[in-house]
Amino acid sequence: MAYSRTLCSSLYRVSRLSANTIFRRNLSVSHKQCNSQTTVGFIGLGNMGRPMATNLIKKGHSVVAYDVNVEAMECLQDEGASIVSSPAEVASKVDSIITMLPNSQHVRSCYTGEKGVFETVQPGTLIVDSSTIDPSVSKELAGAALKKGAVFMDAPVSGGVNAAKGGTLTFMVGGDEKEFEAAKELLLSMGKNIVYCGAIGNGQAVKICNNMLLAITMIGAAETMNLGMRLGLEPKLMASIISTATGRCWAMELYNPVPGVLENVPSSNNYEGGFGTALMTKDLGLAQDAATKTLSPTPLGSLSHQIYRLMTNSGLAEKDFSSVFQFLQEQHKK
Ligand code: NAD
Repeated sequence: MAYSRTLCSSLYRVSRLSANTIFRRNLSVSHKQCNSQTTVGFIGLGNMGRPMATNLIKKGHSVVAYDVNVEAMECLQDEGASIVSSPAEVASKVDSIITMLPNSQHVRSCYTGEKGVFETVQPGTLIVDSSTIDPSVSKELAGAALKKGAVFMDAPVSGGVNAAKGGTLTFMVGGDEKEFEAAKELLLSMGKNIVYCGAIGNGQAVKICNNMLLAITMIGAAETMNLGMRLGLEPKLMASIISTATGRCWAMELYNPVPGVLENVPSSNNYEGGFGTALMTKDLGLAQDAATKTLSPTPLGSLSHQIYRLMTNSGLAEKDFSSVFQFLQEQHKK
């Protein structure tokens, strides 16, 4: 199966005589050359997708973009992208496609729905889905892509909006190992660490586990800061001491949930931007589904899911997930 797909892709590449598609396979070609010659479709221009697409443009790619939000498309058009009116139109014009959408349903409909990618995808197209979704949906879409002669890989990211802007994301890639180097070439325009995780869906599996821990540690950082402040501690001092002590963690040190402790993090910007509470709730739901399927005990993951669900229903859905600090503070007022 993999052989026939690869053969089909190769024939397509040769027949098209596309420099880009040949570069995709020719690993001796320098990264710079590869970057300057690729036409990339980008679907989903939100908090993450827009800066990622901007970095592709900066690295010399031609970007063909689509988002249901016209304003988001127009912003990227100002930066040099072409904009089109559907995922199918994207797929008809490009050699590779990246999707960065909220959840499994969005991703499935983007590929298999009306005017979706699979209506027009060309054989040999490299598809990379960087959304965080159910690993079983990645597997399902990889199978559907294969029938079209295209290659689908899951490559969710870690690093957040600042890493997306800075081009320093970590990509956790699942899929056919033979396609990994081609995917890596492309993803290096947006990230620093491109890690092969194994079979299709494995990137999502790592991502879901990471985010479960992130949710747990963010709640821990928020409740610790809240307690310390109620004991009269100055938040910056407290954060700096814990960040060099055994309580050190990313949420405390680099993404502190208390407004004013750090600059350039969502908590110092009214919890705007960053990683939305609704998205974290979604990821915790994915982790709980996976835990149920594998009979894995995840007591803190389960409790975190409930806390983020409560926040989502309390007006914090669109705020950054570090707003759990604000949520805890509000409990005092009740
Ligand atoms: P977002 O909600 O800011 O952006 C999603 C974008 O997709 C929006 O612009 C929306 O209009 C668009 N969209 C929705 N449905 C669409 C469709 N059918 N066709 C085209 N466009 C559509 O989300 P985000 O923060 O950019 O996150 C995207 C994905 O990345 C999510 O799966 C999230 O879990 C994951 N992620 C986010 C972060 C983060 O810090 N924000 C970090 C790592 C991973």
